[in-house]
Amino acid sequence: MKTALVCGAGGFIGSHLVKRLKREGFWVRGIDLKFPEFGETEADDFLIADLREPQNCREIVDRRFDEVYQLAADMGGAGYIFTGEHDAGIMHNSAMINLNILEACKNRNVKRVFYSSSACMYPEHNQLDPNEPVTREDSAYPANPDSEYGWEKLFSERLYMAYRRNYGMETRIARYHNIFGPEGTWTGGKEKAPAALCRKVAEAADGGEIEIWGDGEQTRSFLYIDECLEGTIRLTRSDVTEPVNVGSEEMVTINQLAEMIMDVANKKLTLRHIPGPLGVRGRNSHNELIGKCLGWKPSEPLVEGLRKTYPWIERQLEQLRGSNSVSVAAE
Ligand code: NAD
Repeated sequence: MKTALVCGAGGFIGSHLVKRLKREGFWVRGIDLKFPEFGETEADDFLIADLREPQNCREIVDRRFDEVYQLAADMGGAGYIFTGEHDAGIMHNSAMINLNILEACKNRNVKRVFYSSSACMYPEHNQLDPNEPVTREDSAYPANPDSEYGWEKLFSERLYMAYRRNYGMETRIARYHNIFGPEGTWTGGKEKAPAALCRKVAEAADGGEIEIWGDGEQTRSFLYIDECLEGTIRLTRSDVTEPVNVGSEEMVTINQLAEMIMDVANKKLTLRHIPGPLGVRGRNSHNELIGKCLGWKPSEPLVEGLRKTYPWIERQLEQLRGSNSVSVAAE
């Protein structure tokens, strides 16, 4: 039986990846600081441990796993990454995790290690025009990410590539572009735009209004979780050694995203623009390389993913309201 280790298996993408690997018949070990928030893990073995500790990593990588997926990171949406308040922790925590896991894998002779980088590593100066953002893989240098989160990703990409060159490991690197779907963070400050907007729309009464950070004309693309997993697995098992974009090419403004969610929810709301952390002006996935080297690229329209995500967030909100009213009634 093939074996896989998923680091960050209590998080959004990691918990979905565990399910996917189980469906493929793998024996899976998951590791995280926490269990998945929105359901039982399907991992055969799930350890609560801090990957910033080298000793923990040595104990977790106790065999020659066929595939290791490194998704653990100190991470959040714009409200977490772009305020500057968490910079030191983000850089320290995520770099420690990557340093420790790679070293532990090298020492057990684990060969195939996937690393989840981010489109946030692309230079800010190529993403000033919301209509023509540049995210070709080879545009990464000269480097100029707009956040410390992006700089850490760039450092760690280089670390994974160096371990490949120096130690013969088969490291694979995806640059994810805004992954979304059910069972992702949807409230509390670490949620990203699709989940935050789904929640705001679900909270608002028909005819009311929702707040949008900035003028809402900043552009992005969003990739549904299932396609992210498909790209991740195909890339991990491929012979592609350079970082590859895993994202959607369907670029929308944040205002358009809000309109799409309102359509899905069948609500008419007014958008009120307020100051807030924004990130780059424009970003879209450039999918020439993934199409060429994997013979596959994401193709599901954004609205399909929103149709699966909105009802899940609406249910979370209803459950929360239900449990609040129960506790108020009990007081
Ligand atoms: P997530 O925050 O839901 O999952 C990350 C997990 O890592 C969390 O469960 C967290 O508890 C765990 N973790 C953090 N510090 C740890 C530590 N010291 N020891 C053990 N576990 C620790 O994030 P996600 O959306 O699932 O993202 C997974 C990966 O993909 C991350 O590396 C992220 O940077 C990258 N990524 C995600 C997106 C996206 O849109 N979701 C975009 C680009 C890149």
